[in-house]
This record gives sequence, structure tokens and C-alpha cells, in this order.
Amino acid sequence: MPIALPKRKGPNPLVSLVIVAVLISLIYSMWGSFGGTPPTEVPLSTFVEEVQGGTVSQVEVSDNRIVYTLADDTEKYAYKEYGQTLDDVLKDVNPEVLATLEVNVADTSTDGIWLNIALAIVPLIFIIGFLWFMMRGAQSSNNQAMSFGKSNARLHDNEKERTTFENVAGVKEAKEELVEIVDFLKNPSKYTAMGAKIPKGVVLVGGPGTGKTLLARAVAGEANVPFFNISGSEFVEMFVGVGASRVRDLFKKAKRNAPCIIFIDEIDAVGRQRGTGMGGGHDEREQTLNQILTEMDGFDTNTGVIVMAATNRPDVLDPALLRPGRFDRRVVVDSPSIDDRTEILKVHAKNKPLAKNVDLQHIAKQTPGFSGADLENLLNESAILAAKKEQKEITQHDIEMSVEKVQMGPERRSRVLSPKEKEVTAYHETGHAIVGHLLPECDPLRKITIISRGMSLGSTWFVPDEDQHMITKEKFEHEMASLMGGYVAEQMIYGQVSTGPSNDLERATGIARRMVTEYGMSAKIGPTVFGEKNHEVFLGRDFGHVKNYSEEKSALIDQEVEGFVEKAYETAKELLTKHKKQLEHIAKTLMERETLTREEFIDLLEGKKLKKA
Ligand code: ADP
Ligand code: MG
Ligand code: ZN
Repeated sequence: MPIALPKRKGPNPLVSLVIVAVLISLIYSMWGSFGGTPPTEVPLSTFVEEVQGGTVSQVEVSDNRIVYTLADDTEKYAYKEYGQTLDDVLKDVNPEVLATLEVNVADTSTDGIWLNIALAIVPLIFIIGFLWFMMRGAQSSNNQAMSFGKSNARLHDNEKERTTFENVAGVKEAKEELVEIVDFLKNPSKYTAMGAKIPKGVVLVGGPGTGKTLLARAVAGEANVPFFNISGSEFVEMFVGVGASRVRDLFKKAKRNAPCIIFIDEIDAVGRQRGTGMGGGHDEREQTLNQILTEMDGFDTNTGVIVMAATNRPDVLDPALLRPGRFDRRVVVDSPSIDDRTEILKVHAKNKPLAKNVDLQHIAKQTPGFSGADLENLLNESAILAAKKEQKEITQHDIEMSVEKVQMGPERRSRVLSPKEKEVTAYHETGHAIVGHLLPECDPLRKITIISRGMSLGSTWFVPDEDQHMITKEKFEHEMASLMGGYVAEQMIYGQVSTGPSNDLERATGIARRMVTEYGMSAKIGPTVFGEKNHEVFLGRDFGHVKNYSEEKSALIDQEVEGFVEKAYETAKELLTKHKKQLEHIAKTLMERETLTREEFIDLLEGKKLKKA
């Protein structure tokens, strides 16, 4: 690869001035020293005496300097007073001696004019240069102050570095959804002719390193439009109002470059639910967020500016951001499955010399829980390892060694499970899935996986067919039972539970408490709401709860909450006891395959054989 030398800046003007000055003075002093032995300086009186003595053959006067030559050709000089003529100096000398003296008066009117000019100009140049230098410094700091409110959005429009969908392996579903966005950008008229509104905002949701930024770039690359990249945290500055003005500036720039993509990375930094911030700075965030919303509402759908955002915490996003007309498209970027991991490894192995024995699929199997970024890092580590050992190629062994390194290394953020943990997780998730699937009010099961995701070791996904705005008591009960499924399964198989289900229990208890205190679903407590539910509190939601009921009521509430949780537990236990065989069978299959789709799960539950993976 050619090494790009950093562009050299021109020489500093101050430095060049100094160099010129030094050169001038050097030349000048050398000039003076040409032409043999320099004359010696003598007092004026010596000159007069020597003239008197008749030893002087020639006198040259230039200004106040009297250079004279003696009969033996030695040169001397003396200075007279300013304004004194030679006659004044030699007024006491015998006129006869004077008559023999050859006197030349040099024309001094132009003599030394260049020196004088130089002497006058050089300091002037210095002063001007210095002033100019100062002004420039002041101006640039001034500019900095003025550009404070300018967005630091970076424009990517480089033909060579263009990212396309080819650079993104796996994440098939996300890509399918984004192909549409690419088409919107390429052929907007196709959609506007149909009266269709082009979406304004797309939010990419997925764990760290799953390729959200990469995908956004690829969309811009595929559509061949400019890409403005800014990170949410850049909006949040020390000074209130800066974020908002950056947003304004960013959208202004984007509109000038339409069609284009604005990409706001880590949008959760600004898009957190308003009014929940503890401590300072949330006013600023609120202003910035409001400005984003205003800008998104303000521009016409057909300007061709599409705002993409990425977050790994969709749960904390302000609902106002996700409203139709704003970030109404949500694209989930999944953690890669085995096949995805193989593909990702292939992408990143392209520019690396791999030995023939390398089996990337095998590596993919060994790396559950690795994100795209982790896999890239893995191959990089193995390349470093191979280079260290002076090999010509990267071997399977190098990669396997690196898996360990990456797994145990301090930078590993996502979790990778040990075989025992994997087993417990498989039973746990299967427990959720069976209970959730068998209870009619639960959302349809979409997928079970023991690939770590966020805080959980595995996950079971239930995705509703349509948006739900109302939830019945029965649905709450079934969901709680499904949440208890993991806990019950672990208890049944191992006789004890791990820390794994603690989050499930918390959530189930939370649902039960809300059923009792907010939704009036407990017969004993009735329809009264307990606890102040103020969403605009100053200190943050949870801190804002005010206890506005008696101790007796409080005890009764606790009792009711317990009752709901207990009931859910019993439901889960009953279902899993009845389906214990299936639980074991499905959990074992899940350990092998890591992920089961809805169809595979149903086949297994009904005792059918699965097709070979
Ligand atoms: P995120 O923004 O989701 O945290 P990035 O998009 O920054 O993750 O991904 C980091 C790096 O990981 C990318 O630059 C890319 O090299 C690699 N990567 C992640 N996902 C993929 C993928 N699906 N295919 C290929 N490379 C990927
Ligand atoms: Mg990113
Ligand atoms: Zn669970």
C-alpha cells in the first residue's frame, strides 16, 4: 500500500521573514569585507597631523567619513563632525601642503540608499508580518468561537472508499428493508408519482458492533449520495443551545446536498426520554432533541434527505422520536447467526492470506456471541499472530488461538458462553418459549436463541402481529407466566436456579405491581391508582413517585402483587411439567443450533424431525 505523506504546509511567514533578514545582513557584512585589508580607524586629529606632515597622498570624503591614503598606500579613515566641511577640518593646515592634496568628494546622495531602504523596510516588514500573524491567529480562534454552533458533520463522498451492501455480510432482513430506502433515494419520482410519502427517518437498532454504522454507510454508497455523519454525543456540549444550533446547521447543509443521508450515531445520547435526566445537561439534550424533531417535521418529505439513526438502546428513546413522520422505520440489526458469522469472516478474510486448511465455518461455530466487529477483530488478531511468527499465511491454529485471546481479552464486551452456561441458557429460553407458545394471549413466538444479546445470555422473541394499544388482564397474566417459564425450567431440570432469571422475575413483578396499582386489575384493590404517576418530574421518573396511601393499603398491594406472581408461576409450572419431554428435546436441539425459528420450534414441539441444518 502506498504510504501517503502528510501534506506539507507552506513555511511559516514569520520564519521566512527572519531568514530573509539574516541573509540580507550576512550579504551586507560580506560586501564590506571584500577588497583586501580593511582601513584602520584613526582619530580626526591624527588625520590632520598626517596631512600637516605631508604624508597623505589622497583623500576621499563621503559624508562624515574621511578615507585617506598615505604615500605608502596604507589606507586609514576618520570621522568628522556632521556638517563640518573638509576645509573646516584642515583650516590650520598650511595651504601649500593642501594644494598638493588630491581630494575626492563622493556623491553620497545615492550611496547607501539600498541599505537605507532595507533598514527602513525590514523592520516594517517585520511589524506588518507580525500584525498579520496575530490577526490570523485571532481570526482563527474567532472562527472557532463562531463555528461553535456549526455541526461537525463529516461528508463522505469518496469514490474509492464507497461502502456497499457487499461489504455488509449477514443481516439479511435489515438489508432487505434498507434496499427500499436506497430505491427511494435513487428514484424518488417513482414513489411520489404514486402519491407515496418517502420516509424521513430510519432508526437502526442493534447491539454494539453489529454493523449499524456500516449499514448506514452502505445505504449511502448504494444510492451514491453524500453521507453526513454525526454522533449524538457531539450534540451534547458544555454550552446550552449549541446542540440545537448544530442540528440546524446540519440540516441546512444536508438540504443543500440533497438527495443525501444524515446519519446520527448513538442517538440515545440526545433522544432519551425527556424529563428523566438526573443531574445537569438534560435541558440541553431536550433542546437538541426538540430541534431534531422540529427539523424533521419542517422539511418536505420530498427533499430527498433521509435521516438515519443508530442506537443500541431503543428502550430509552423518547416516544416522540419514533412517531410517524419522524423515525417511524425501525430496522433491527440482529446479532449474527452461525451462517452470518461465516459470511462476515469471509468478508474480512478477503485481503488476508489464509492457509488452505482454514475452515471459516468451523470458526463461526466456535464464536457464538461474537458481533461483526468482534469477528473483524478476531481475524485481525490472527493476522498479527501469524505475522509475529513470520508465517506467510494465517493458519486455522492462529485463528483458534485468537478466538481465545479475543474471548478472554479485556476488550470483549459481548459475552461468550461456556458449555455449561450454554446448557442452562438453552433450558431457560426453551422454558420461556414453551409457556409463551402454549398460552393463547402471548405474542407469536418468532425465534429462540442462545446467542447473547444485550444483558441477557439468550433470548426468546415474541413479536406481535400488529401494534397493540390495549392490553387485557389475561394477556398480562400469560406474559408473566411466560416470563416465569425460564425460572421454572431451570428449577425443574437442575433443582436450583441461576442468576439468569433475575431480570425475568423483576419484569414479572413489575407487571404485577402495575396491574394492581395502575390498571385496577386487582379485585381487592379496585380501580384506584396508587403512587403519583407524573412523567414530567424534575428529578426523574422513579424518584418522582410519591407515596400517597396508607401502610395497610401498602401491605394489601404487596399481597396482591405476590398473588399475581404466584399464579403465573403455577401456570408455567403446570405447562412445563406436562411438556417436560419436549423441554428437554428442544433445549438439546437449541444447544446444537443456537437459534431456532418459529417453524422449527413448532415442529420440535409436535415431535417432528427437523431438516438437517
Ligand atoms: P455498530 O455501529 O453497530 O456499533 P459498526 O458498523 O461500527 O458497528 O461495525 C464495526 C465494524 O465491524 C465494521 O466496520 C465492520 O468492519 C465490522 N462489521 C460489523 N458487522 C459487519 C457485517 N455484518 N459484515 C461485515 N463487517 C461487519
Ligand atoms: Mg456505530
Ligand atoms: Zn429469561
